[in-house]
Amino acid sequence: MNCVDDKLKEELLELSRYIYDNPELGYEEYKASAAHAALLEKHGFQVQRGYLGIETGFRAEYVKGEGATVAYLSEYDALPQVGHGCGHNIMGTLSTGAAIHLKEHMGDSHGRIVVIGTPAEETDGAKVKYSKDGAFDDVDVALISHPFCANVKSGISFALKALRFEFFGRAAHAAAAPEKGINALDACISTFVNIGLLRQQIVPTARIHGIIKDGGTAANTIPEYACAEFYVRATSKSYLENLAERVCACARSGAEASGAELKITEFETGNDNLLTNRALQECLCRNLAKVGITDIEEAGEANGSTDVGNVSHVCPTIHPSWNIMAPGEVYSTHTVEFREATLRQPAKDALMVNVCAMAMAGKEILDDPELLAEIKREFAEAVAND
Ligand SMILES: [Zn+2]
Ligand SMILES: [Zn+2]
Repeated sequence: MNCVDDKLKEELLELSRYIYDNPELGYEEYKASAAHAALLEKHGFQVQRGYLGIETGFRAEYVKGEGATVAYLSEYDALPQVGHGCGHNIMGTLSTGAAIHLKEHMGDSHGRIVVIGTPAEETDGAKVKYSKDGAFDDVDVALISHPFCANVKSGISFALKALRFEFFGRAAHAAAAPEKGINALDACISTFVNIGLLRQQIVPTARIHGIIKDGGTAANTIPEYACAEFYVRATSKSYLENLAERVCACARSGAEASGAELKITEFETGNDNLLTNRALQECLCRNLAKVGITDIEEAGEANGSTDVGNVSHVCPTIHPSWNIMAPGEVYSTHTVEFREATLRQPAKDALMVNVCAMAMAGKEILDDPELLAEIKREFAEAVAND
C-alpha cells in the first residue's frame, strides 16, 4: 500500500484544523460530525447521519463484495475551556483517514469498511448506547487510537459504576427536640465509614471514591436529607458488579442504623472495562513497523475509564495511543499545550503514517480469515473470563 497521497493528506489536515477551530462539546458536535460525514461521502462511503437516534453520531460504510467488516471509531468532541485539549480533532481524523485510505487501496480485497462517529467521549459516551443498541453486532473488529506523547499498545481501563445514595430522614430542632429527628447525614457518614473499612478487603486494582453532595442546611437542624455520590471502578466487569453491590450494602446499613430511607440510583452512564484484543494489537504493530514505527511501549496499569470498553465487550477491539509530539516533548492531555501540538508538523507527519498503518491493518484483516478467526477466538475467551 502506498503512502497517503497529497490530495487526501490535504483533506485530512483540513478536517483536523476545521474541527480544532470549531470545538464542540459532547452531543453538540454538529459541525465536526457533518465534516467527517461529508468527506467520507465524497470518497464513496454511504453515510447514515443521526445514527441510532444520536444526532451527532453517524455510520459510514463502503462495501465491496462479501467479506469481513472492519470498523474505525471516530471521536470528535471537545472540552470546556481548552477546546480540543484531548486532541480529538486529529484523533477522529485518523480513523476517517484510515477508512478512506483503505478504500482507495482495496485492490483485490473484499469486505466492508465502516466508520462509526461516536460523540461525547469526554462525558456520557455514545459508545455505551451504540454497544447496547447493536451498532457493533455486525462488526468483526473495531480500531481506534488516541493521540499522546508516546506510542503505546492498547491496555486495560476501569469498568465504572456511578452510584448516588440519597438518604431521607426527618428534620427536627437539633437542641430543642433532637430525639424527634432522623438524621440523614448520620446515614451518609456511616456509609463513608463502612466504605472506608471495606477498602481494606478489596483487590488493590479497584477504586471507590466519593463526595457528599448535600449534608444538610443548618447546624441547628437535624438534616432531613443527605446525598453522596461515588464512583466504583474495577478492572473486570464481574468484579465491579460484586464490588458495587458491597458498596450499596454499606449505604443500606448506614441508612438502617440511622433510620433513614435510602434511594440508590446511577447518576451517570457506567463503562465496561477495556478488553484489549492482543492478536489485533499485534496486527497493528506489524503494520506500524512497515511505516517505521517500532518504538511502541507496553501499556501500563488502568488509569481511567472509557466508553471504548463497552465496545470491547461486543466485538474485538483495540484502543492504543500514537505519538504526535516532537522528540522529548511531553504534554498531558486536556491542556492547551496538548491542543496546540495537534497543529504542529510532528503531529501532521504522525497522522499520515498512522493512517497508513491503520489502513494496512484493516486490509490484513480483510485478507486473512485465519487471523480473524484467531482474533475472534481470543475475544470469546476474554469475554467469558472477564
Ligand atoms: Zn479526554
Ligand atoms: Zn481523549
